[in-house]
Amino acid sequence: MRIHIVVAVCMSAAAAARAQQPLVGYSAANSASERRLEASAITRPSPSTAAAHSKQLSREAHVSGTPAQARTRDYVIAQLKRWGLETEVRAYDVWMPHPTSVHVARLSPQPKELQLAEPPVPGDPTSSLPQYPTVNGYSGQGNATGEVVYVNYGLIEDYAQLDSMGVSVKGRIAIARYGRSFRGIKAREAEKHGAIGLLIYSDPQDDGFVVGDVYPEGPMRNSAGVQRGSILNVDGDPSTPGYGSTQGVPRLAPDKMDIPHIPVVPISYGNAAELLRFVRGANVPRGWQGGLSFHYHAGPGPVKARVSVMDDRAMRPLKPIYDTFGVIRGGEFPDELVIIGGHRDGWGPGAADNVSGTVSVLEAARAVAEEVKNGARPKRTIIFATWDAEEWGLIGSTEFVEGDSLRLSRGAVAYLNQDVAAQGARFGGGGSPSLRPTLRDVARLVPDPNGKGSVYREWRRASAVADSAEPPMGDPGGGSDFAGFYNHLGIPIAEWGFGGAGGVYHSQYDSFAWMSKFGDSSFAYHAAAARIATAMVLRVANADVLPYDYEEFARTIRRYVAPVDRAIADHHWNISTTELQRAIDRLQHEAAAFAAARDSALAGSVNTGALTRTNQALMQVERAFTRPEGLRTRPWFRNLIYVADENNGYANMALPSVNEAIRAGNEALTRSEIEDLTHHFDQAVEALTAARGALHGS
Ligand SMILES: [Zn+2]
Repeated sequence: MRIHIVVAVCMSAAAAARAQQPLVGYSAANSASERRLEASAITRPSPSTAAAHSKQLSREAHVSGTPAQARTRDYVIAQLKRWGLETEVRAYDVWMPHPTSVHVARLSPQPKELQLAEPPVPGDPTSSLPQYPTVNGYSGQGNATGEVVYVNYGLIEDYAQLDSMGVSVKGRIAIARYGRSFRGIKAREAEKHGAIGLLIYSDPQDDGFVVGDVYPEGPMRNSAGVQRGSILNVDGDPSTPGYGSTQGVPRLAPDKMDIPHIPVVPISYGNAAELLRFVRGANVPRGWQGGLSFHYHAGPGPVKARVSVMDDRAMRPLKPIYDTFGVIRGGEFPDELVIIGGHRDGWGPGAADNVSGTVSVLEAARAVAEEVKNGARPKRTIIFATWDAEEWGLIGSTEFVEGDSLRLSRGAVAYLNQDVAAQGARFGGGGSPSLRPTLRDVARLVPDPNGKGSVYREWRRASAVADSAEPPMGDPGGGSDFAGFYNHLGIPIAEWGFGGAGGVYHSQYDSFAWMSKFGDSSFAYHAAAARIATAMVLRVANADVLPYDYEEFARTIRRYVAPVDRAIADHHWNISTTELQRAIDRLQHEAAAFAAARDSALAGSVNTGALTRTNQALMQVERAFTRPEGLRTRPWFRNLIYVADENNGYANMALPSVNEAIRAGNEALTRSEIEDLTHHFDQAVEALTAARGALHGS
C-alpha cells in the first residue's frame, strides 16, 4: 500500500514566495514538472519496505571479506534488478588481514584471561549468532606483555601531559578510552610514544550507563559491549596507494605500507575495569577520571597485561570486496553523473551502521525507478552505489574513485553520502557549502515523521536558531565514503541522517532488535531519509543549470580567514590575507552575477548546447580548489577547502594547506600557501565567469 502524506504546515510568507518561484536552476515549465515529480516520488519510500530491507540486511554480522558480506551484495543486486535498474558489481582484491586469534589477559595481580566476546542478550536474536572477533582492523600482529598505563583519550596532548608527569608508555601497554579522536590516531600516537600494545575501551561516561540505561534495557552500551573498528590512517587499500586495487596490480610489501605495527584490541568497560582498578602510580589529571566506580590512576602498573593478536596475513592477506551499482541512465546528459552511496559492510549486524544508509539508497533507487517506469527519465545519469570495506578504511569507495577518476572528474556533478541514515529522530545534514541550500530546500519538502511539519521545520526547531538564521550544517571532515569524491577529486558532496542516543556503535548489538526498540521503532525515519535522498537525486539530476550556490560557498569560507589572521598575529609574522579575502569577495560577486544571469536566461529560452557548456563550466568551479600535488602532508588529499585534521581524524580542518603550514610554524610556507589558495579562488572565479558566458552562448 502506498503511504499518502499530508503536509499540514502553515506556510510563512517566505515559504509562500518560495513556492511561487521556479526551483533554483530550473525554467518555469521544468520547475513545475519537477515539483510534481518530486511530490510523487517522495511518497514511494515507505517505513514497511524500509523495515523489510533492514531486517534482511541485518540478519547476520557482515564484515567485509566474509561470505556474509557477499550475501548482502547479492541481496542488493537482486532488488535493483527487480526494479529494472542496470546493475554492476565491481570487485577489488584488498590487503585486509582478518584475525585468527585475539587474547587479552591480566597477568598480575590475580591472573585472569578476559572474555572479549559480546554475550547474547534476551530479545535480540542476532546477539546469539556467530560474531566477528573483537578487533581493531589493521592491528599489528604479535604478543605484547607489560605494565599498563592509562592514557586518557590517547590524544597528542594526553601524551604531553603524561610526559610532564614523568609517566612513559615506552615498553608498556597503553589503555585509552574511545572518543575525541579517530581510533587510528590513538594507535599512531601510542606506537609513536613507544607503547608495545594498545587497548581501547568504551568508557561508561561516553556511551554507557552514565549516559542512560544500557542494552537491552536501554539504548546505551552495556558492560560487555565492544566498539570494533579500523585503525588504518590512510584511505583505501594500503597496498595500492593512489590506484585501484584490481587483480594483478603491483602492491607494496607489508613493511612498506602505512599501517600500525603494535597489537591493538578494543575492549568493553567491564574488561577495562579489570585492569584499570589495579593501576596505581600518579593520580590522573583533572578531566581524566571516567565513569567507572573507582579512582583512576595513570600508572605505570603495577598491573601487568598481555595483548595478543594473530591474523591471516601470511596465508591469505588479500580479500575480495564488492561495490554494487544500480544505474538509471540520463535522457539528456547521460555523461553527467549524480551518485548516491552508502557503505554496505559492518562490524556486526549493523542495523544503524550502515544498513540504515543502505536502505535509504535502496528505497531512493526504487522510488526513482518507479517514476522512470511512469515515463519520467532523469536528464542526468543517477548511480545508486553501495560500498564495501568502508569500515576498514573507506576502501570500496576509494578504489572506485581512484579507478574511475577520469570519468568522475569530467562528469560527476554531486556525490551524496548515506552513513547511518537513521538511528534516531534528530536530523542533521552538511557537506559542500555549494550544495547546502539544495539540501535545505529538499528538507522543506519532506514531512517529519513526528507529524508536525517538514523535516526542515523540525530541524530548525531542534537547533534553536534565530529566525533569520539557517540551522547549522556540518563541514566535510573525515570518516566516510565521500572522502574520495570530495578530498581527492573536488566533487561537491552532501550528507544527512537522523541521529539519536545510542551505545551500540560497531557492536554485535547494533541489530534489528536494537533499532526496532530504540533507534527507529516505526522505521519512519528510514523512510524520511530515503525521501530526502529521492528528492535530492532528482533535483540535481533534472536541473537545467546545476543548482550549486557559490555565494553561500564564499560566505561560508570567508569565516575561516579571521582565525588564520589571528594565528598569523600570534606568530608575529608579516603576512597579509588581504588578497585572499579579495579573491573570496570576487567569488561571491561573480556567484551573484551568475545567479542573476542564470535566472534571467532560464526565464527566456536557452538551448541545450549552451546548457551543456554552462554545466561543464560550473563543474570546474569546485574542481578548481584541488591541486594535483595535494596537501604537503598528504598528497592524496587534493582539495584545499576542507580535510580531516591529521592529528584527530574526525575533526575537520578548513583551508588545510594554509592551516597546516601555520601549525608547522613555517612563515614562508604559510605565505606561499595563502598565495596559492588565492590563485585557486581566482581559478574558481574564472570557471564561474565562463559558466556565465556560456549561458549567453559565448
Ligand atoms: Zn558507517
